[in-house]
Amino acid sequence: MELHRLTIQQLAGELAKGQLSSRQATEHLFQRIERHDPAIHGYLELHQDAALAQADRIDKRRSKGETLGPLAGVPLAIKDNICISHGRTTCASKILGNFQAPYEAHVVQALNAADAVILGKTNLDEFAMGASTENSGFGVTRNPWNLQTVPGGSSGGSAAVVAADLAYAALGSDTGGSIRQPAAFCSVVGLKPTYGRVSRYGLVAFGSSLDQIGPIAKTIPDLALLLNIIAGHDRRDSTSADLEVGDYLANLDKPVKPLRIGVAGEYFQEGLDKEIAQAVRQALDFYASLGAEIVDISMPLNKYALAVYYIVATAEASSNLARYDGVRYGYRDKDPKDYIDMYYTSRAHGFGAEVKRRIMLGTYTLSAGYYDAYYLKALKVRTLIRQDFDKAFEQVDCIAGPVTPTPPFRLGEKIDDPLTLYLSDVYTVMANLTGLPAISIPCGFSSAGLPIGLQLTTKAFSEELLLRIARMFEQATDYHLQKPKLQS
Ligand code: GLN
Repeated sequence: MELHRLTIQQLAGELAKGQLSSRQATEHLFQRIERHDPAIHGYLELHQDAALAQADRIDKRRSKGETLGPLAGVPLAIKDNICISHGRTTCASKILGNFQAPYEAHVVQALNAADAVILGKTNLDEFAMGASTENSGFGVTRNPWNLQTVPGGSSGGSAAVVAADLAYAALGSDTGGSIRQPAAFCSVVGLKPTYGRVSRYGLVAFGSSLDQIGPIAKTIPDLALLLNIIAGHDRRDSTSADLEVGDYLANLDKPVKPLRIGVAGEYFQEGLDKEIAQAVRQALDFYASLGAEIVDISMPLNKYALAVYYIVATAEASSNLARYDGVRYGYRDKDPKDYIDMYYTSRAHGFGAEVKRRIMLGTYTLSAGYYDAYYLKALKVRTLIRQDFDKAFEQVDCIAGPVTPTPPFRLGEKIDDPLTLYLSDVYTVMANLTGLPAISIPCGFSSAGLPIGLQLTTKAFSEELLLRIARMFEQATDYHLQKPKLQS
């Protein structure tokens, strides 16, 4: 198989055998990026010198017979809202256009400790706000499956570069679907771990009660391997859980038996594309053929989830983004009249339209007189939604459904209609509101040849179970092996 097509596990195996060097693999990917990324624009910044220096270091240590980490010499990509202490961390926002992080995110330190090679930073919707990567301040990313369509968002760059074999895997962040939705749109696997499973130290905050970092990869074993490396308690993030982390790879190939999968009728109502409904139903039939029991469950509060999410997420965003004031970070407008004017003009010119919209919505729902009617009420409904899930998990091990209501849509199609774009998140926000782990795995293609994803959700901190259930599907199907045909 061609070098770039390998999975992390296959590449690590080749590197360990000594038939291939990390420098060769890394150079190969940079050549591929040079050739294919201009059309896709998955990367915002390449760290060529640092990556090749790291690859050489690993090769040298390997030749000396040193024990190396599980990702030794494997080239990966990082979403550009995760801090690396060299290069820039822009969040695809002009306001952070020249921002250089003074420290490294926990997950980046963990990848470095595992001896990975980091190729560069991937594109996203500005501050991770969006579902198409069209909100980036530095140009859109295109879906490798069809360059006229979006790759999803906000981790669209990460999903696109993995799908196009321009990185062996990538990290993304997921506040309302930003790992799972682009994974579904690009036909790769994406995991949002349980809230607290992975430290967010060094992730630029969007919605602090929702944000979670997770991996995007080509296969479930690669996801499990990456989760092994990035999961665990970190005292620098007080929301990271002080719980033991299992070995997600150890029992991955053991099928889950008995297995009860819950399906909510509410997920299959108006607004769901017919081909997606069909592909998800087929996936459920497939699980049934493996011996799973498919159980009808009810999620009556599901219909409020999107509204609750857009109140909570915007409220938290308006608070988190108050720090970009032209004083301490990034962009400051030239020649302000006075310091108040400096705040106004720096923020007016530094932030893009969607970010401003979110700040205004969030400030509104948090303001005196509206707080009780919107924000507080949203928090109460959020608790009820979580209770719906708790109740469902008394009956089933896993809940299955679509990731997205539609296949990848055309660039520009929804960008002027924010409400329609927000509807893209209708199936993904629940996992963030409840903190539960959820995964997207390829389960088919539309008649136009565009990817379709299946979403699975399990109880909090049960990623081991979740990955095993996902693996059962992957092992017996070949959707994840299909590749986009890149032009040129
Ligand atoms: N699409 C959602 C939003 O725009 C989710 C984004 C995310 O998960 N970062 O808010």
